[in-house]
Amino acid sequence: MTDHPADPRPRVTASNHSVAIAGTRCGSCGYCCLDDSVLCMACGSTLSPACFSPEGTIWAGTVQRIEVNGRIPPMILAYIDLDEGPRLLAHVTGKVTAPQVGARARLVGTTKEGDPLAEVIC
Ligand SMILES: [Zn+2]
Repeated sequence: MTDHPADPRPRVTASNHSVAIAGTRCGSCGYCCLDDSVLCMACGSTLSPACFSPEGTIWAGTVQRIEVNGRIPPMILAYIDLDEGPRLLAHVTGKVTAPQVGARARLVGTTKEGDPLAEVIC
């Protein structure tokens, strides 16, 4: 048993102007997730490590106006459906309004706290 549970946030890596998100994918049905699950929740097959591209579509967005774990409000947040399947929660750069559902977004890295960070691209 460890003192600190594993960090549940999506693993976003940024290097040489390239951003990728680590997760797993089912070789049988294509189900994707962003954690280290071993078995597919959809069909029970074994999952394999996968890397997802950073672009997707905003599924929901909001502006959070209360402090959470030292993160200073206002914070622009959005759930983004990545083009390759998984949905993740990310902070969004730009003006302080809720990102529009259906807008395109791209992960650009992480915040100083290590949270996924995205920008709206159109
Ligand atoms: Zn599956």
